[in-house]
Amino acid sequence: MNKRVEFPAVPFDKPLLSLVVPLFNERPMLPLFFERVLPVLAQLDLKWEIVLVDDGSDDGSAQYIRGVVDRTPGIRLVKLSRNFGKEAAMTAGMEHATGDAVIVLDADLQDPPEQIPGMVECWQSGVDVVLMQRRSRAGETALKRWSAHIFYRLLNRTSRTNIPVDTGDFRLMSRKAVNALLSLKERNRYMKGLFAWVGMPTRIIQYDRESRVAGETKWDYPGLVGLALEGLTSFSVSPLRWATLIGLIAATMGAVFGLWIVVKAIMLGDATSGYPSLVAIISFLGGIQLISVGIVGEYVGKTYMESKQRPIYLTEEVLESRVSVTQQANRKMTGARHVKAV
Ligand code: UDP
Ligand code: MG
Repeated sequence: MNKRVEFPAVPFDKPLLSLVVPLFNERPMLPLFFERVLPVLAQLDLKWEIVLVDDGSDDGSAQYIRGVVDRTPGIRLVKLSRNFGKEAAMTAGMEHATGDAVIVLDADLQDPPEQIPGMVECWQSGVDVVLMQRRSRAGETALKRWSAHIFYRLLNRTSRTNIPVDTGDFRLMSRKAVNALLSLKERNRYMKGLFAWVGMPTRIIQYDRESRVAGETKWDYPGLVGLALEGLTSFSVSPLRWATLIGLIAATMGAVFGLWIVVKAIMLGDATSGYPSLVAIISFLGGIQLISVGIVGEYVGKTYMESKQRPIYLTEEVLESRVSVTQQANRKMTGARHVKAV
Protein backbone atom coordinates (compact mmCIF):
# COMPACT_ATOMS: atom_id res chain seq x y z
CA MET A 1 0.00 0.00 0.00
CA ASN A 2 1.32 3.39 -0.97
CA LYS A 3 1.76 5.68 1.92
CA ARG A 4 1.98 9.36 1.20
CA VAL A 5 5.24 10.75 2.44
CA GLU A 6 4.82 14.00 4.27
CA PHE A 7 7.86 16.25 4.18
CA PRO A 8 8.22 18.40 7.24
CA ALA A 9 8.01 22.08 6.50
CA VAL A 10 11.62 23.26 6.43
CA PRO A 11 11.93 26.77 7.73
CA PHE A 12 13.95 28.44 4.99
CA ASP A 13 16.42 30.91 6.30
CA LYS A 14 16.88 34.13 4.41
CA PRO A 15 19.83 34.01 2.05
CA LEU A 16 23.00 35.85 2.97
CA LEU A 17 24.43 38.53 0.69
CA SER A 18 28.12 39.42 0.98
CA LEU A 19 29.53 42.71 -0.24
CA VAL A 20 33.23 42.47 -1.01
CA VAL A 21 34.94 45.86 -0.95
CA PRO A 22 38.64 46.14 -1.85
CA LEU A 23 40.13 49.37 -0.60
CA PHE A 24 43.48 51.05 -0.67
CA ASN A 25 43.94 54.41 1.02
CA GLU A 26 40.25 55.31 0.91
CA ARG A 27 40.02 56.94 4.34
CA PRO A 28 38.19 60.09 3.05
CA MET A 29 35.63 57.89 1.33
CA LEU A 30 34.77 55.56 4.17
CA PRO A 31 32.17 57.59 6.16
CA LEU A 32 30.31 58.36 2.92
CA PHE A 33 30.57 54.75 1.88
CA PHE A 34 28.82 53.45 4.98
CA GLU A 35 26.31 56.30 4.85
CA ARG A 36 25.22 55.23 1.39
CA VAL A 37 25.58 51.47 1.58
CA LEU A 38 24.01 50.67 4.95
CA PRO A 39 20.54 52.13 4.17
CA VAL A 40 20.44 50.18 0.89
CA LEU A 41 21.28 46.93 2.70
CA ALA A 42 18.74 47.64 5.41
CA GLN A 43 15.99 47.73 2.78
CA LEU A 44 16.78 44.26 1.47
CA ASP A 45 14.83 41.25 2.60
CA LEU A 46 18.09 39.37 3.09
CA LYS A 47 20.80 38.86 5.64
CA TRP A 48 23.98 40.67 4.69
CA GLU A 49 27.62 41.08 5.55
CA ILE A 50 30.27 43.49 4.31
CA VAL A 51 33.79 42.16 3.83
CA LEU A 52 36.17 45.10 3.63
CA VAL A 53 39.62 44.20 2.39
CA ASP A 54 42.24 46.70 3.43
CA ASP A 55 44.87 46.30 0.75
CA GLY A 56 47.77 47.71 2.78
CA SER A 57 46.43 51.25 3.28
CA ASP A 58 48.65 53.59 5.26
CA ASP A 59 46.16 56.43 5.72
CA GLY A 60 44.31 55.07 8.76
CA SER A 61 41.55 53.30 6.77
CA ALA A 62 41.92 50.16 8.91
CA GLN A 63 41.65 52.14 12.18
CA TYR A 64 38.46 53.77 10.98
CA ILE A 65 36.98 50.44 9.94
CA ARG A 66 37.91 48.93 13.32
CA GLY A 67 35.70 51.57 14.92
CA VAL A 68 32.85 50.71 12.56
CA VAL A 69 33.28 46.97 13.23
CA ASP A 70 32.92 47.67 16.97
CA ARG A 71 29.66 49.54 16.48
CA THR A 72 27.98 47.81 13.56
CA PRO A 73 27.03 44.15 13.17
CA GLY A 74 27.77 42.28 9.98
CA ILE A 75 31.07 43.88 9.09
CA ARG A 76 34.34 42.05 8.62
CA LEU A 77 37.73 43.58 8.05
CA VAL A 78 40.36 41.55 6.24
CA LYS A 79 43.64 43.40 6.54
CA LEU A 80 46.31 42.31 4.10
CA SER A 81 49.95 42.42 5.15
CA ARG A 82 50.83 44.95 2.41
CA ASN A 83 49.46 46.31 -0.85
CA PHE A 84 48.84 43.34 -3.14
CA GLY A 85 46.75 45.14 -5.75
CA LYS A 86 43.02 45.18 -6.37
CA GLU A 87 42.93 41.79 -8.06
CA ALA A 88 44.47 40.03 -5.05
CA ALA A 89 42.33 42.08 -2.65
CA MET A 90 39.16 40.94 -4.42
CA THR A 91 40.31 37.34 -4.20
CA ALA A 92 40.94 37.78 -0.48
CA GLY A 93 37.49 39.27 -0.03
CA MET A 94 35.78 36.46 -1.90
CA GLU A 95 37.65 33.85 0.11
CA HIS A 96 36.46 35.48 3.32
CA ALA A 97 32.89 36.01 2.16
CA THR A 98 30.39 33.44 3.32
CA GLY A 99 27.29 34.62 1.47
CA ASP A 100 25.00 32.78 -0.93
CA ALA A 101 25.75 35.61 -3.32
CA VAL A 102 28.69 37.99 -3.47
CA ILE A 103 28.75 41.50 -4.88
CA VAL A 104 32.10 43.16 -5.59
CA LEU A 105 31.91 46.89 -5.05
CA ASP A 106 34.55 49.65 -5.16
CA ALA A 107 34.98 51.68 -2.00
CA ASP A 108 34.96 54.96 -3.93
CA LEU A 109 31.21 54.75 -4.66
CA GLN A 110 31.81 54.76 -8.40
CA ASP A 111 29.69 51.62 -8.44
CA PRO A 112 26.40 53.00 -7.11
CA PRO A 113 25.14 50.89 -4.18
CA GLU A 114 21.58 51.81 -5.19
CA GLN A 115 21.94 49.19 -7.94
CA ILE A 116 22.19 46.39 -5.36
CA PRO A 117 18.44 45.65 -4.99
CA GLY A 118 18.13 45.28 -8.79
CA MET A 119 21.12 42.93 -8.88
CA VAL A 120 19.70 40.82 -6.07
CA GLU A 121 16.35 40.61 -7.83
CA CYS A 122 18.07 39.41 -10.98
CA TRP A 123 20.01 36.77 -9.02
CA GLN A 124 16.85 35.57 -7.31
CA SER A 125 15.23 35.11 -10.68
CA GLY A 126 17.77 32.36 -11.26
CA VAL A 127 20.98 33.61 -12.85
CA ASP A 128 24.44 32.99 -11.40
CA VAL A 129 26.15 36.15 -12.55
CA VAL A 130 24.75 39.66 -12.79
CA LEU A 131 27.13 41.83 -14.78
CA MET A 132 27.04 45.58 -14.48
CA GLN A 133 27.79 47.28 -17.77
CA ARG A 134 28.76 50.94 -17.85
CA ARG A 135 26.44 52.98 -19.99
CA SER A 136 28.46 56.09 -19.23
CA ARG A 137 31.60 56.83 -17.25
CA ALA A 138 31.38 60.16 -15.47
CA GLY A 139 34.51 61.91 -14.28
CA GLU A 140 36.87 59.93 -16.47
CA THR A 141 39.00 61.55 -19.11
CA ALA A 142 38.26 61.02 -22.81
CA LEU A 143 41.69 59.39 -23.10
CA LYS A 144 40.86 56.82 -20.39
CA ARG A 145 37.48 56.04 -21.94
CA TRP A 146 39.00 55.72 -25.39
CA SER A 147 41.88 53.52 -24.23
CA ALA A 148 39.46 51.31 -22.27
CA HIS A 149 37.31 51.00 -25.41
CA ILE A 150 40.26 49.96 -27.59
CA PHE A 151 41.62 47.61 -24.92
CA TYR A 152 38.40 45.63 -24.47
CA ARG A 153 38.06 45.15 -28.19
CA LEU A 154 41.69 44.11 -28.60
CA LEU A 155 41.34 41.66 -25.73
CA ASN A 156 38.32 40.04 -27.30
CA ARG A 157 40.07 39.77 -30.63
CA THR A 158 42.98 37.93 -29.05
CA SER A 159 41.46 35.60 -26.52
CA ARG A 160 38.95 32.84 -26.91
CA THR A 161 37.22 33.75 -23.68
CA ASN A 162 34.72 36.44 -24.51
CA ILE A 163 35.15 39.28 -22.05
CA PRO A 164 32.07 41.54 -22.15
CA VAL A 165 32.92 45.11 -23.13
CA ASP A 166 32.63 47.97 -20.66
CA THR A 167 32.10 45.79 -17.63
CA GLY A 168 34.37 46.26 -14.65
CA ASP A 169 34.60 44.27 -11.47
CA PHE A 170 31.19 45.48 -10.24
CA ARG A 171 29.04 42.36 -10.39
CA LEU A 172 27.04 39.83 -8.41
CA MET A 173 28.05 36.18 -8.31
CA SER A 174 26.18 33.24 -6.83
CA ARG A 175 27.97 30.93 -4.40
CA LYS A 176 28.38 28.46 -7.25
CA ALA A 177 30.14 31.05 -9.41
CA VAL A 178 32.31 32.27 -6.51
CA ASN A 179 33.45 28.74 -5.69
CA ALA A 180 34.24 28.14 -9.34
CA LEU A 181 36.26 31.35 -9.44
CA LEU A 182 38.14 30.49 -6.27
CA SER A 183 39.07 27.11 -7.72
CA LEU A 184 41.26 28.96 -10.23
CA LYS A 185 44.51 29.13 -8.34
CA GLU A 186 46.70 31.08 -10.74
CA ARG A 187 48.87 33.86 -9.37
CA ASN A 188 48.45 36.18 -12.34
CA ARG A 189 44.95 37.20 -11.51
CA TYR A 190 43.41 39.18 -14.27
CA MET A 191 39.99 39.08 -12.64
CA LYS A 192 37.86 40.26 -15.53
CA GLY A 193 39.27 37.41 -17.57
CA LEU A 194 38.84 34.88 -14.76
CA PHE A 195 35.24 36.00 -14.23
CA ALA A 196 34.56 35.52 -17.92
CA TRP A 197 36.30 32.15 -18.00
CA VAL A 198 33.91 30.83 -15.34
CA GLY A 199 30.92 31.60 -17.56
CA MET A 200 27.54 30.44 -16.08
CA PRO A 201 24.09 31.93 -16.77
CA THR A 202 24.64 35.65 -16.90
CA ARG A 203 22.48 38.72 -17.15
CA ILE A 204 23.71 42.22 -17.93
CA ILE A 205 22.33 45.34 -16.28
CA GLN A 206 23.35 48.75 -17.60
CA TYR A 207 24.17 51.59 -15.26
CA ASP A 208 25.77 55.01 -15.23
CA ARG A 209 29.17 55.01 -13.62
CA GLU A 210 29.55 57.88 -11.22
CA SER A 211 32.65 59.90 -10.64
CA ARG A 212 34.76 59.43 -7.56
CA VAL A 213 33.32 61.27 -4.55
CA ALA A 214 36.63 61.82 -2.77
CA GLY A 215 40.26 60.76 -3.02
CA GLU A 216 41.79 59.91 -6.34
CA THR A 217 42.13 56.97 -8.65
CA LYS A 218 44.88 54.49 -7.81
CA TRP A 219 45.51 53.78 -11.46
CA ASP A 220 48.03 55.80 -13.37
CA TYR A 221 48.72 55.17 -17.03
CA PRO A 222 51.76 52.90 -16.49
CA GLY A 223 49.59 50.86 -14.09
CA LEU A 224 46.79 50.60 -16.62
CA VAL A 225 49.19 49.62 -19.40
CA GLY A 226 50.58 46.93 -17.06
CA LEU A 227 47.07 45.65 -16.37
CA ALA A 228 46.30 45.67 -20.08
CA LEU A 229 49.45 43.66 -20.85
CA GLU A 230 48.58 41.30 -18.02
CA GLY A 231 45.11 40.85 -19.51
CA LEU A 232 46.42 40.25 -23.00
CA THR A 233 49.09 37.75 -22.00
CA SER A 234 47.10 35.96 -19.28
CA PHE A 235 44.31 35.01 -21.53
CA SER A 236 45.85 34.06 -24.79
CA VAL A 237 49.06 33.12 -26.46
CA SER A 238 48.18 35.00 -29.63
CA PRO A 239 50.85 37.70 -29.06
CA LEU A 240 53.34 34.87 -29.61
CA ARG A 241 51.62 34.13 -32.90
CA TRP A 242 51.74 37.79 -33.88
CA ALA A 243 55.49 37.70 -33.33
CA THR A 244 55.77 34.67 -35.60
CA LEU A 245 53.52 36.26 -38.20
CA ILE A 246 55.41 39.56 -38.25
CA GLY A 247 58.68 37.61 -38.46
CA LEU A 248 57.34 35.69 -41.45
CA ILE A 249 56.21 38.85 -43.21
CA ALA A 250 59.56 40.55 -42.57
CA ALA A 251 61.48 37.50 -43.79
CA THR A 252 59.39 37.32 -46.98
CA MET A 253 59.92 41.00 -47.63
CA GLY A 254 63.66 40.53 -47.07
CA ALA A 255 63.77 37.60 -49.52
CA VAL A 256 61.88 39.54 -52.21
CA PHE A 257 64.13 42.54 -51.72
CA GLY A 258 67.25 40.33 -51.92
CA LEU A 259 66.02 38.81 -55.14
CA TRP A 260 65.34 42.24 -56.58
CA ILE A 261 68.92 43.34 -55.75
CA VAL A 262 70.37 40.29 -57.52
CA VAL A 263 68.17 40.80 -60.58
CA LYS A 264 69.02 44.50 -60.65
CA ALA A 265 72.76 43.76 -60.41
CA ILE A 266 72.57 41.30 -63.33
CA MET A 267 70.42 43.50 -65.56
CA LEU A 268 71.83 46.94 -64.83
CA GLY A 269 75.28 46.20 -63.48
CA ASP A 270 76.24 46.43 -59.83
CA ALA A 271 76.08 49.92 -58.50
CA THR A 272 77.15 49.54 -54.87
CA SER A 273 74.75 51.87 -53.22
CA GLY A 274 71.99 51.39 -50.70
CA TYR A 275 73.69 52.11 -47.38
CA PRO A 276 70.60 53.94 -46.00
CA SER A 277 68.26 51.12 -46.96
CA LEU A 278 70.64 48.64 -45.30
CA VAL A 279 70.60 50.54 -42.03
CA ALA A 280 66.81 50.88 -42.18
CA ILE A 281 66.32 47.16 -42.78
CA ILE A 282 68.76 46.10 -40.06
CA SER A 283 67.18 48.33 -37.45
CA PHE A 284 63.69 47.26 -38.52
CA LEU A 285 64.57 43.60 -38.15
CA GLY A 286 66.45 44.25 -34.91
CA GLY A 287 63.37 45.96 -33.51
CA ILE A 288 61.10 43.09 -34.49
CA GLN A 289 63.48 40.62 -32.89
CA LEU A 290 63.61 42.53 -29.64
CA ILE A 291 59.83 42.87 -29.50
CA SER A 292 59.44 39.15 -30.12
CA VAL A 293 61.98 38.28 -27.43
CA GLY A 294 60.08 40.63 -25.09
CA ILE A 295 56.80 38.86 -25.80
CA VAL A 296 58.38 35.45 -25.22
CA GLY A 297 59.95 36.85 -22.04
CA GLU A 298 56.56 37.97 -20.80
CA TYR A 299 55.31 34.40 -20.96
CA VAL A 300 58.51 32.93 -19.52
CA GLY A 301 58.25 35.39 -16.62
CA LYS A 302 54.64 34.43 -16.01
CA THR A 303 55.53 30.75 -15.96
CA TYR A 304 58.33 31.52 -13.49
CA MET A 305 55.99 33.44 -11.18
CA GLU A 306 53.40 30.66 -11.33
CA SER A 307 56.00 28.01 -10.63
CA LYS A 308 56.87 29.61 -7.29
CA GLN A 309 53.39 28.76 -6.00
CA ARG A 310 53.31 31.68 -3.62
CA PRO A 311 50.03 32.57 -1.95
CA ILE A 312 48.04 35.27 -3.77
CA TYR A 313 47.95 37.44 -0.65
CA LEU A 314 48.74 37.31 3.06
CA THR A 315 46.36 38.41 5.78
CA GLU A 316 47.63 40.32 8.76
CA GLU A 317 44.38 40.10 10.64
CA VAL A 318 40.72 39.32 10.25
CA LEU A 319 38.39 41.28 12.46
CA GLU A 320 34.65 41.02 12.71
CA SER A 321 31.78 42.49 14.62
CA ARG A 322 31.19 40.66 17.87
CA VAL A 323 27.48 41.21 17.51
CA SER A 324 27.34 39.70 14.10
CA VAL A 325 24.15 39.09 12.17
CA THR A 326 26.09 36.59 10.14
CA GLN A 327 27.39 34.26 12.82
CA GLN A 328 26.24 31.06 11.27
CA ALA A 329 27.03 27.53 12.30
CA ASN A 330 27.85 26.50 8.77
CA ARG A 331 30.44 29.15 8.17
CA LYS A 332 32.57 28.27 5.21
CA MET A 333 36.06 29.56 4.61
CA THR A 334 37.33 28.48 1.24
CA GLY A 335 40.99 28.01 1.97
CA ALA A 336 41.71 31.47 3.30
CA ARG A 337 45.29 31.88 4.40
CA HIS A 338 45.79 33.46 7.77
CA VAL A 339 48.99 34.76 9.16
CA LYS A 340 47.30 35.88 12.31
CA ALA A 341 43.58 35.75 12.85
CA VAL A 342 42.13 37.95 15.56
N1 UDP B 1 42.21 49.31 -4.87
C1 UDP B 1 42.79 48.30 -4.09
N2 UDP B 1 44.14 48.07 -4.23
C2 UDP B 1 44.92 48.77 -5.09
C3 UDP B 1 44.30 49.77 -5.90
C4 UDP B 1 42.94 50.00 -5.75
O1 UDP B 1 42.13 47.65 -3.31
O2 UDP B 1 46.12 48.51 -5.16
C5 UDP B 1 40.76 49.58 -4.70
C6 UDP B 1 40.42 51.05 -4.49
O3 UDP B 1 40.52 51.42 -3.15
C7 UDP B 1 39.00 51.11 -5.00
C8 UDP B 1 39.00 50.10 -6.12
O4 UDP B 1 40.12 49.24 -5.90
O5 UDP B 1 38.06 50.70 -4.02
C9 UDP B 1 39.08 50.76 -7.48
O6 UDP B 1 40.23 51.58 -7.53
P1 UDP B 1 40.23 53.00 -8.27
O7 UDP B 1 39.02 53.75 -7.94
O8 UDP B 1 41.54 53.63 -7.96
O9 UDP B 1 40.20 52.53 -9.78
P2 UDP B 1 39.30 53.15 -10.96
O10 UDP B 1 37.89 53.25 -10.44
O11 UDP B 1 39.89 54.46 -11.27
O12 UDP B 1 39.42 52.15 -12.07
MG1 MG C 1 37.33 54.23 -8.86
